[in-house]
Amino acid sequence: MLVPIKEMLADASKRRYGLGMFDAINQEMVDGIIAAAEAERAPVILATVKAFGNLLSMADSMLYAIKKASVPIALEVDHGTMEACFQGLAAGYNFVMYDGSMLPFDENAANTRIIAEAAHAVGAGVEAELGHVANAEVTYENANQEEKENIYTDPEEAVKFVEMTGVDCLAVSVGTLHGRYKSAPDLQFDLIRDLKQALNLPLVIHGSSGITDEDVKKAVAAGVCKMNFFTDLADAAARRIAAVPDIAALGFNKLMSAARDAVKDCTIDKIRLLGASGKA
Ligand SMILES: [Zn+2]
Repeated sequence: MLVPIKEMLADASKRRYGLGMFDAINQEMVDGIIAAAEAERAPVILATVKAFGNLLSMADSMLYAIKKASVPIALEVDHGTMEACFQGLAAGYNFVMYDGSMLPFDENAANTRIIAEAAHAVGAGVEAELGHVANAEVTYENANQEEKENIYTDPEEAVKFVEMTGVDCLAVSVGTLHGRYKSAPDLQFDLIRDLKQALNLPLVIHGSSGITDEDVKKAVAAGVCKMNFFTDLADAAARRIAAVPDIAALGFNKLMSAARDAVKDCTIDKIRLLGASGKA
């Protein structure tokens, strides 16, 4: 069932578990993620990114699957431009993440405020990002220590940003990166606790694939309310397909089933680490 993100975040905050957000690039991923949520009786967030090219083409099929599902699910536009957020809201997404993290503070805040007002007017929720979660392939490896520290979200700035924008949750940069890590991420748990204390708001971590199981649990314990996953799911599907013997002899439908099952298994692992099992 489609449930407002505000309700889901409030429940996760109150009962101290993490909500998993899972990006899907096709129907097999959607089906695998929802099957995992139902198997674990867990609330989840389903998402797409405009770069996948399926923001509008898959909206109806995702909403159909969500409405049939027996657990609470929110449908999110992940890393939206302003245009993508507006398109998503019109297409039925009930949660949009506006990503102005590369912009100067004031511009990011002003744009986020516009998206927040539009989203709230139609009963949808909003996430924004302050401090930039960089791409693992490009930025972080080459950055020096000072540059790495500049990437982190500043608690004082975050308080100001939330007051200016009215967002429902905030993606913070606390040591994670998008994509495949070249070395283990170094999560700043003290910073997470500082941000949690400074902000009376659910915190979100992007780039959660590749974080160790132990650190996922520690992040939730430190006050993170939502963690975003994609790479681990996509890699699990690819590995499962690659392991099929005599791959060409197998029909495409069987390969897609293998991908769906791998996504389901990986999603179940994440749901359990987040402590979200049985919370639906
Ligand atoms: Zn992200």
